[in-house]
Amino acid sequence: MKNIKDYNLEELKKEFVAIGEKPFRAEQVFKWIYESNVTSFDEMTNISLELREKLKQNYTLCIYKIIKKQEATDGTKKYLFDVLDGNAIETVLMQYHHGYSICVSSQIGCKMGCRFCASTGIQFIRSLTSGEIVEQLLAVEREENVKISNVVFMGIGEPLDNYENVVNAIRIINNQKGINIGARHISISTSGLVPKIYKLAEENIQCTLSISLHATTDEKRSSMMPVNNSYNIGQLIQACKDYIEKTNRRISFEYALAKDNNDNMEDAKRLVKLLKGMICHVNLIPINKIENGKYTKSSNENIIKFRDYLNEHGVVATIRRELGSDIDAACGQLRRKNI
Ligand code: SAH
Repeated sequence: MKNIKDYNLEELKKEFVAIGEKPFRAEQVFKWIYESNVTSFDEMTNISLELREKLKQNYTLCIYKIIKKQEATDGTKKYLFDVLDGNAIETVLMQYHHGYSICVSSQIGCKMGCRFCASTGIQFIRSLTSGEIVEQLLAVEREENVKISNVVFMGIGEPLDNYENVVNAIRIINNQKGINIGARHISISTSGLVPKIYKLAEENIQCTLSISLHATTDEKRSSMMPVNNSYNIGQLIQACKDYIEKTNRRISFEYALAKDNNDNMEDAKRLVKLLKGMICHVNLIPINKIENGKYTKSSNENIIKFRDYLNEHGVVATIRRELGSDIDAACGQLRRKNI
């Protein structure tokens, strides 16, 4: 059966026409799914019984079950979802003063192999469809009875390695007739798939791009992130400049500080050289230790020194507040699980 959440509104209208229905019916169904967040076709009371039957026979609403829910001392919540095929993925809900932010997974497992990330130790199974991505948000809103205002593609997987489905999920989340979260409140984080960054710049969606940079020399970056062997720092920065020029959007660079690895003042200097003059922001993340991982956190003192150096030299940098680490819900700690 087809997942009805895999269609954006335009596609759903076409689909309805193909099954002999009027496009405005598609819009009504779209609103039931994304505005009302219903869990069955029977709740769609302005849809005829006959059409509801037809929908039931041909489509699923892909309703996720929560297998496990954990809450951190800071209020961050982590959900393990049954994705209905014997696999499970993790999603995280964070509360900030400006509202709720959700960190969604885009793949079951990840191919990128970053040495500091927990999602690396697990086998790649498959990419999630756009409906499966959006359902993470809907399931959390149903469970908590909240309205989510920000979405970050920073869970399990490399979003740009699942390009079409991630872009389609953004179009669905963004639609004013449904979930209606502005593209500026949606961030995609990438380990640096350069050709896809050029492609994204052409999409005409105003989402925020985050780049997982983490190092300032190719040697160091390749040792942390194998993707750097395919697309090096120079190529990555060039793609970022193109993205900024085409979209006029500020890029966010993620830099996870690991003790005695990428956290000395020489690194800070090179980072300034690399980013100076770009419309960007650096997010410094105290690296989270993972099982069997060789990297450990820089000292607080060092992290502050690193941040101050960047700010004093014209590169805006902040330290990311760490949320959910006591339930392994922080950056780089998410895993795929078998049920
Ligand atoms: N594949 C994408 C998105 C998932 S990772 C990407 O690489 O960007 C989300 C963020 O967490 C990335 O910036 C990633 O580099 C960072 N991250 C991964 N492992 C981490 C760890 N152990 N400590 C801190 N940040 C980590």
